[in-house]
Amino acid sequence: MARLIDAGPGCPTPTPLRAKSAAEARGLEYDDAVKAATDVLYPLVSYFITPMEWPAVAPLVAEINKIKKAKNAVILAHNYMTPDIFRLVGDFRGDSLQLAREAAEVDADIIIQAGVHFMAETSKILAPSKTVLISSMEAGCSLASSITGEDVRLIKERYPDYPVVTYVNTTADVKAECHITCTSSNAAQVVEAVAVEWNTDTVILVPDQYLAKNVAAQTGIRIITWPGACEVHELFSKDDVQALREAHPGVMILAHPECPPDVLEAADFAGSTAALANYVRDEQPAKVVLLTECSMSDNVATDNPGVDFVRPCNLCPHMKQITLENILDCLINMEYEVTIDEDVRVRAKAAIDAMLDLPKMETPLSFNVGVKPMEIEVISRH
Ligand code: SF4
Repeated sequence: MARLIDAGPGCPTPTPLRAKSAAEARGLEYDDAVKAATDVLYPLVSYFITPMEWPAVAPLVAEINKIKKAKNAVILAHNYMTPDIFRLVGDFRGDSLQLAREAAEVDADIIIQAGVHFMAETSKILAPSKTVLISSMEAGCSLASSITGEDVRLIKERYPDYPVVTYVNTTADVKAECHITCTSSNAAQVVEAVAVEWNTDTVILVPDQYLAKNVAAQTGIRIITWPGACEVHELFSKDDVQALREAHPGVMILAHPECPPDVLEAADFAGSTAALANYVRDEQPAKVVLLTECSMSDNVATDNPGVDFVRPCNLCPHMKQITLENILDCLINMEYEVTIDEDVRVRAKAAIDAMLDLPKMETPLSFNVGVKPMEIEVISRH
């Protein structure tokens, strides 16, 4: 079961001790120049960082923004970053698809991926001439590590007649072996498109078994999947939804499609990271809970001051490897650089391009809620 907490700030970061010691250790002070450069930024995070904490955070923010400019670098900040990173140093913000598109088009020499490693790989695939850096090599992903390129080759041997779709939450090696990628915003669209293209009633969608089950329920297409899962979203359960409804009568419950299908069955709305943010922006529910990563609620809350957020505090341990401190070190030391074998990159890009070539959706697709979960075939490694 997920860890549920009451309304109010979710998992507040940074702490005064951590930020203060980090700034001091780098010889950075909250002086007049830093104050002048950052005063305008504080209102963006005043809900999460107290005035007492701010002098310890501001010098890091000012230094990062100064070096970024000097080196013509940009920071791509995923929605699951803590608000200090997302709001104060991120140049482009969004879900993995939005960030991948920015990476392809951005006019910069250096991309710092404030996200996890597969996202940095995706940036490198789409922007091979740019230097792509990630500030922690520990920023992995349970989905990306659940499957290898060799696994996909074996799947294709076993099922040669079916197209293989991979969720973008995979390594470049895996993307290189698949026919097309998808995101949670367009998974149903991609599966329907390849079923038509291949003239088949069966599509293989890896590695997230829950996303695959939710797409199967959405499309009616027979889907074969892989036993991978997001370690954050798989913690949510139907019992959590029930407990939230009892504790907060009238609350609107929004779920990400990496959650198990019975969670979507019980939720009020389901969709990708972008779809959840759009729903809150457009509908302005009085009280809402986002069944997704904890920092997402923090970041959406800032844009919607009139909405009361109940916060399930499930943090992604991989996303939380990225901090203001190591972003600064990354910019100074130019590490860790993400590189990909050119043959793998070209084949992985073909799978991403196949997705980007589909008609662009105006808004991310939502998933049906209230639908009975259906069992689908899950491939065994053996
Ligand atoms: S939230 Fe889940 S899918 Fe996203 S990086 Fe963390 S483990 Fe991977």
